[in-house]
Amino acid sequence: MKILYVEDEKHMALAVAQVLKKNNYSVDFAHDGESGLDLALSGLYDIVVLDIMLPKMDGIGILRNIREKGIEMPVILLTAKGETEDKVAGLDSGADDYLAKPFQTDELLARLRALGRRRGQLAQGSILSYADIELNYNTLGLYGNGQAFHLTLKESHLLELLIHNQGHAITNNTIIEKLWGWESETEDSHVQVQIAFLRKKLGLLSQAVKIKTIYGVGYMLTQNGEG
Ligand code: CA
Repeated sequence: MKILYVEDEKHMALAVAQVLKKNNYSVDFAHDGESGLDLALSGLYDIVVLDIMLPKMDGIGILRNIREKGIEMPVILLTAKGETEDKVAGLDSGADDYLAKPFQTDELLARLRALGRRRGQLAQGSILSYADIELNYNTLGLYGNGQAFHLTLKESHLLELLIHNQGHAITNNTIIEKLWGWESETEDSHVQVQIAFLRKKLGLLSQAVKIKTIYGVGYMLTQNGEG
């Protein structure tokens, strides 16, 4: 389960992220509203934990923007103590849940489990199709040519990213940022390894789909030799 955590208080963000990671969640941060919105719209996250008071754009603004685009991904809002108006505005704007700060991480974990279960029910049959392959990004199943593979979470995220950007080259830096987070020390060689794994599986499932290397730029998904 991949979580986007939008929080400008970095100490708090790191402390909470440690607990989430121990509980097998993968966590990316954004420390201001604008980058939070960009990441929320990337299609890579299962749940967004959204602080309300943020620089550049507040949490309610991000939430409205996500919902206006028809994105159903669960959102938990973090409200400061006593901000009843925020709570009401948040729920009106399409938040699934809220948590008053300061909160116990156990409480956050309980909310995440509940939303994760609900997302599982909603997302059954969450299929992304491209040429002759299908990815179920809920179960991480990749299908084609009458066969199936189970992808790792990283491979699935990489393929989602490539499909969402079909026909455009994606840079190594973008891949690192989306798959590992911008605070990671991931190197280009890690990207190459993930690309190689995914290519191998695609090669066995599809005649049409290829991951093309654009030298000096990055990678692009193509079908039937186009591009
Ligand atoms: Ca804040």
